[in-house]
Amino acid sequence: MKIWLNGNLVDRSEAKLSVYDHGMLYGDGVFEGIRVYGGKVFQCQAHIDRLFESAHKIRLAIPLTKQELSDAMYATLHANGLTDAYIRLLVTRGEGLLGLNPFNCATPGVVIIADQIALYPEEMYKNGMAVIIAKTVRTSTTMLDPSVKSLNYLNNIMAKIEAIDAGVAEAIMLNARGQIAECTGDNIFIIKDGTVYTPPPSAGILIGITRGVVIKLAKRLGIPLVEKEIAPADLYAADECFLTGTAAEVIAVTRIDDRRIGTGRPGEITARLLAAFREFIASDEA
Ligand code: PMP
Repeated sequence: MKIWLNGNLVDRSEAKLSVYDHGMLYGDGVFEGIRVYGGKVFQCQAHIDRLFESAHKIRLAIPLTKQELSDAMYATLHANGLTDAYIRLLVTRGEGLLGLNPFNCATPGVVIIADQIALYPEEMYKNGMAVIIAKTVRTSTTMLDPSVKSLNYLNNIMAKIEAIDAGVAEAIMLNARGQIAECTGDNIFIIKDGTVYTPPPSAGILIGITRGVVIKLAKRLGIPLVEKEIAPADLYAADECFLTGTAAEVIAVTRIDDRRIGTGRPGEITARLLAAFREFIASDEA
């Protein structure tokens, strides 16, 4: 396997960063997880734009243009002979000193890994998944803006551990106001009386690329969709629930804590949106 590392395609065993890189010392950096379907980087521009926005928010200057980054992703895919893949693109603060000061790091590190990912077993896509509501609260927008996809995922990891301890694959995280924010690595949607609801960016979420595509598809299909804060009680009382994410794609949730959602089977509107998403992936628009 070839990894793109600061402008070179190197063997995986040679793809090494300094232990003085602030990405390693402090989780100081930003990243993207991106799908490749049929040789095409899915929503390439949206992912690159979000990466630059994340970097800008943490005052990190990416040492490549958007076009160069896109070219580098395709070069990595070609070097590995991949047409269906999962790309992990990361920009670290770079090698610096042991103190926090990020401006001692001269050159950001850029890494592109092209590999495969299977987040959840196939069975869950058919039958729906069980999740919990985590006690770990999602980092608030006033602490570290969750719209920054930063290399520091400990907040999410602590909630993920709660999920694993509870024997489920994902956890829903509330914001500091006790409203639904998102999951550890996915955005969340619920359906009630034919309308789809999803928390707005102000709920403190990563503004998912998959979320954006699903919102667009719902509008196209004429399914009413409202971005609105959702309380845990609304979640439990939902007719349907599903999650979206680059790795997860679109997956139904059929149990939250000890509560069955709707009929306990993936719902009809979820199925329509999943079908539309699959069509979208295969289209020229992808
Ligand atoms: N929320 C969080 C915290 C995430 O890490 C992710 C990405 N895995 C998402 C939502 C979904 O975003 P996207 O659709 O862009 O992958």
